[in-house]
Amino acid sequence: MEDVKTFISICYNLRPIDLLAMVCVCKDFKNILDERINPLAEGIWRNSRINFTIFKDNEPPSRMSQQTFARLLTFEKGCQFCKSKMKSCTIYWNPGVRSCKECIIPKTFSYQLLRTTLKIDMEILELIVPVTPNIDLSNSELKLTYYWIEHVKNVITFFMKANDNIQHALNNLKIEAKNIYNEAKDYEDWMNNLHEMYLKRQDEIFQKFCSEMSEDTLLRLEGDSEFVIMKKEIQNNPFFLIQDWSNYKTKILQILDRINNVGSITTTTFTVTRVPNKNQYADEIVQKQIRIIKRLRRLTYGSVRVAQNQIISIRDLLYQYLPICPSFVNPPDGDYSQEFFIGKLLPTLRKEAERLFLAEVVAPPYILDIEGALLVGGLKDKSVFECNVCHQYGPTNLKKIKSHLISCHDFDSSHKSLVLGTKVNCDSVLSNLFHAFFLKEEN
Ligand SMILES: [Zn+2]
Ligand SMILES: [Zn+2]
Repeated sequence: MEDVKTFISICYNLRPIDLLAMVCVCKDFKNILDERINPLAEGIWRNSRINFTIFKDNEPPSRMSQQTFARLLTFEKGCQFCKSKMKSCTIYWNPGVRSCKECIIPKTFSYQLLRTTLKIDMEILELIVPVTPNIDLSNSELKLTYYWIEHVKNVITFFMKANDNIQHALNNLKIEAKNIYNEAKDYEDWMNNLHEMYLKRQDEIFQKFCSEMSEDTLLRLEGDSEFVIMKKEIQNNPFFLIQDWSNYKTKILQILDRINNVGSITTTTFTVTRVPNKNQYADEIVQKQIRIIKRLRRLTYGSVRVAQNQIISIRDLLYQYLPICPSFVNPPDGDYSQEFFIGKLLPTLRKEAERLFLAEVVAPPYILDIEGALLVGGLKDKSVFECNVCHQYGPTNLKKIKSHLISCHDFDSSHKSLVLGTKVNCDSVLSNLFHAFFLKEEN
């Protein structure tokens, strides 16, 4: 009993996100925080939301618990289905989920589908509350109406079970649907106003922070992939970032530190790192990068024994974004053993590559397409090019493939012809992986 009291008093000082974590710890905690079981739970959740979040000026919709309300408003946890924090999330008050666009669509039926394909009566459709707010598909002008599949099922079941005398029940259902819809609309407005207000406030803080930096520093920051991701996050969910501004600022300062230390390696305009001559002392970062490439190559070759899902294809997203992955640009400390690489560094790199991809950061020149292979420089003199016309010549170097195209296929010597007539051989790139990421220092 004492323990329960202590636990509850601790809970009064926790943020909703911490309480949500508590719910997952064990069944006892879960029960204590369940409003249907513990009468104090409602106050705990409400108190936490009011004290620790910006969502103070509203109470949950009817039929929604304080816990669910707090859970929905925890934007920092991203989409509740795909867990992505990189996509913009919306709270759909009806049915009561926080989701990105991609995840909500498959859980709904469109008006179109229900009316024209499934031939559902308008009379039935009126009883189903559409997903609110409307799912906003940026690529289409018109706002489409969608219905939560579970709700459609419920209403259809109601009709199947109903007897002849259902007029009264129908009227009630109709009124209820109208009420739910109106309430959801109110919450939509509330959220929109807050969103607008906090975006503006956040922008002011951000501008002020940036104005304290020199133009040069700011320019370099803008070119950093990790910073680009952070900016994207702030656009997606201003609510949690503004609440956690000091933490956010610290992260930016860390990026600045890194940029200043790394010096010449800029990230979005990817330049191939020059490897110092063998005898020279190669600097620490390059040494670590070389070890990353070595480990990666072995995994891609399949020359180490690992689980099937740890083998990396040369076409993996990671290879596309590697040069600008924060943990490649500034590799962490570690022994770079196979265990360290597979257990720690690789998952981080993959996550970073995925985040860069989702943030739509411009990828560096891609080593598997011809333009990219020519750009990275180190591959130019290697035998990685094949004839894309007869598929029988190559892999060979640039000079030879050029003359093959001219003599055998009547191509001219322009860059365009070269790009059209040539493709890159993946296996050859893999055997020349170092040249794809590093450039030997010219003597
Ligand atoms: Zn999602
Ligand atoms: Zn050919």
